[in-house]
Amino acid sequence: MTDGASGVLLAVETRDGAIRETSKELFGLGRTLAGELGGPLGAVVLGSGVEAAAREAAALGADRVLVADAPELAAFTVDAYAKALDAAIDATQPRIVLLAGTTAGRDLAPFLAMRREAACLVDCVRLAWQDGAWVGTRPVYQGKLLTEVRAPGDGLTFATIHAGAVAAPEPDPGRISETTPLPLQFAPGEIRVTVTDLVQAPAGPTNLEQAEVVVVGGRGLGEAANFRLAEELAEVLGGAVGATRAVTDLGWRPHYEQVGQTGKTIAPKLYIGLGVSGAVQHTVGIRGSETIVAINRDPDAPIFKMADFGVVGDVHEIAPKLAAKLRAVRGA
Ligand SMILES: Cc1cc2nc3c(=O)[nH]c(=O)nc-3n(C[C@H](O)[C@H](O)[C@H](O)COP(=O)(O)OP(=O)(O)OC[C@H]3O[C@@H](n4cnc5c(N)ncnc54)[C@H](O)[C@@H]3O)c2cc1C
Repeated sequence: MTDGASGVLLAVETRDGAIRETSKELFGLGRTLAGELGGPLGAVVLGSGVEAAAREAAALGADRVLVADAPELAAFTVDAYAKALDAAIDATQPRIVLLAGTTAGRDLAPFLAMRREAACLVDCVRLAWQDGAWVGTRPVYQGKLLTEVRAPGDGLTFATIHAGAVAAPEPDPGRISETTPLPLQFAPGEIRVTVTDLVQAPAGPTNLEQAEVVVVGGRGLGEAANFRLAEELAEVLGGAVGATRAVTDLGWRPHYEQVGQTGKTIAPKLYIGLGVSGAVQHTVGIRGSETIVAINRDPDAPIFKMADFGVVGDVHEIAPKLAAKLRAVRGA
C-alpha cells in the first residue's frame, strides 16, 4: 500500500457539460466503500467546460472534487484521459479507483492498472470491501452465471462497474465540497488518436437505457420498412425502439439501437419483442426487464422461455392489432 493511501476516487465522465448517468451511479457505491474504508470520497470530473458537472459531483456526495477541464478531454481518448486520471490518483492517493463500465472506463481501467501494476476488477455488478480485500461480483457466460473475483486490498485497485448495476444517489444541491482544478499540459503528439466526429443517438423516447417501454424489432420483421410496426407500438406506449444485431448488421436500423451483449443493456418495465428469436447474446441485454412480451411465429423460439407473455403468430398480423387495441384503450 502506498503510504497515506486512503479512500475512493471516482473517474467521472461528462457529456455536454453534465455528468453521464453511468458515472452518477458510481457515487452511491463510492460513498459506501469510502465509509467502510474510513477515507474520503474523491471525484475527478473529466471533460471540457465541466464547471457545472463539478458542482454536480459535490451534490452527489464527493468530499473532494478535482476538475480535469481541457479541450483535449472534450472527447474520449485513452492517452488524454489516462493522463488526467493518473494525475488525479497522484493527487488523492486512493485505495480504489471506480470507473463506469463504459467504452472509456473499459479502456482506461486496465490501461492504468497495467501501468501502475495495480489490480483490476472489471464489469462488477457488486463490489465490497471484506476482510482487507476487494470482492467483486461479475457476470460470466453472457450473464448466465455470476462469479466472484478478489483483489488484495494492500495496493491500488481499479474497478469498473456494470452500467445499471447500482442506483445513482439523489443529489443534494446545497452540498459544497473542496473543488480543485487539475492542471494538465499536453505535449504535441502525446494524444495519438484524433476524434474527428461524434455521432450522438437522438435524445428523447429513443433513449433506450432510460425508456420504460422498449419495443425491439428482430429479423422476423422481414425488412427495414416494417419497423413502422415497432415504431407504432412504441409511439402508443410512449416507448423506444430497439433492434437485434441481425437487424443492425443488415443496416435496417442504426447500431445505437442494438440491444444485447454487444449493444445496450436495458431494464424497462415492459419489453416487447417482434420477430426476435431470443438468442442468448440478445437476451443477456434484456434480463432486467420487468415484463417480457414476445411475438414470434415459431412456438419453439427461445424467447418464449423467458417471456412472461407470448403470442405465437405472424408479427405483421398481430402487431398492428395490438397497436390498434392499445390506442383504443389509451384513447389515443
Ligand atoms: C459475439 C456475438 C455477439 C452478439 N451480440 C448480439 C447483441 O448484442 N444483440 C443481438 O440481438 N444479437 C447479438 N448477436 C447475434 C445473436 O446471436 C443472434 O444472431 C441475433 O440476436 C438474432 O437476431 P434476430 O432474433 O433478429 O434474428 P433471427 O435469429 O433470425 O430470428 C428471427 C425470428 O423471427 C421469427 N419470425 C420470422 N418471421 C416472422 C413473422 N412473420 N412473424 C413472427 N415471427 C417471425 C423467427 O421465427 C425467428 O425466431 C451476437 C452474436 C455473437 C456471435
